[in-house]
Amino acid sequence: AAKEAGRDQLIVFDQSLREKRLEVAQTVERLGRALTQGELLVHFQPLIRLADERITGVEALIRWQPPGERMVPPDRFIGVAEDSGLIVGIGEWILRESCRVVAGWHGRHGTVVSVNVSPRQLREPDFGAMVLDALRDSGLPPPALILEITEGVLVDQGAVTEQAIGHLSMLRSHGIKVAVDDFGTGYSSLAYLRDLPIDHIKIDRSFMPAPGDTDPAARTLVKAIVDLAAGLRLGTIAEGVETAEQVALLRELGCERAQGYFYSRPVPEPDAARLILESASSGVV
Ligand code: C2E
Ligand code: MG
Ligand code: MG
Ligand code: MG
Repeated sequence: AAKEAGRDQLIVFDQSLREKRLEVAQTVERLGRALTQGELLVHFQPLIRLADERITGVEALIRWQPPGERMVPPDRFIGVAEDSGLIVGIGEWILRESCRVVAGWHGRHGTVVSVNVSPRQLREPDFGAMVLDALRDSGLPPPALILEITEGVLVDQGAVTEQAIGHLSMLRSHGIKVAVDDFGTGYSSLAYLRDLPIDHIKIDRSFMPAPGDTDPAARTLVKAIVDLAAGLRLGTIAEGVETAEQVALLRELGCERAQGYFYSRPVPEPDAARLILESASSGVV
């Protein structure tokens, strides 16, 4: 009987695996078309300098809007795009689009742009050349571009990933900046912070104390990260800032910048343009 049950389970597992594969294959096909048919778009989320609460930059965040359907969030398709290799084309598109849009804002207000780069993109031999070409085409100066990477891009199971580091070092020699995204969620050693080609760390939103959280431990972690970054002369950006209490804490601890729903959600280009203009003229977001 146990054997029977085991076999049934195996069949159920097999079916759901097949369904899963089919679903992935369909997503790959639809996503491939999405790029050529203009269904991908970029939203921009402001980054605020805490000292004067002005918008100094934006993070470009990809969105997928299939016609007549709900918007698909990146968490639902970035993984598939990575595994299938589609992220190479999609990543190039979002980089060029972001540089083009932000070049105008940069010219008027000095706005910089952060673009997420996936590990798969950094395995392309011509990644560095592609980034330089995108900057030239857009007219955005290299120091106005920040590439966001995760720890895993730099260090894989303790070993430094030479190809990614080669690309990033070359790009930094042209003035481009590098930020470690979701800092503190990986498991790599801290030693890499000193030796690897990076300029900023983005404190993952899981470190933001929850509303009403009076446990000093929450604050201790944020302070430790801010102090570590300051000691290494790295910039600090807090992610997922949703409350005035969190803003007050970050200011007190000396964190430089913040990004989160407290200031603005990611918004389409025209709304971002308006927020940047208002910030530049009044100093309040
Ligand atoms: P990320 O790079 O860490 O981006 C920050 C995410 O946090 C965004 O989610 C943003 O909407 C969300 N967020 C911002 N402020 C708050 C807040 O106050 N509270 C909460 N709960 N969330 C906040 P989004 O846009 O859904 O993107 C999710 C992830 O997808 C990104 O995380 C990034 O890893 C990836 N992603 C997005 N766009 C791209 C892209 O163009 N290329 C690549 N490779 N990955 C991308
Ligand atoms: Mg990011
Ligand atoms: Mg992040
Ligand atoms: Mg994240």
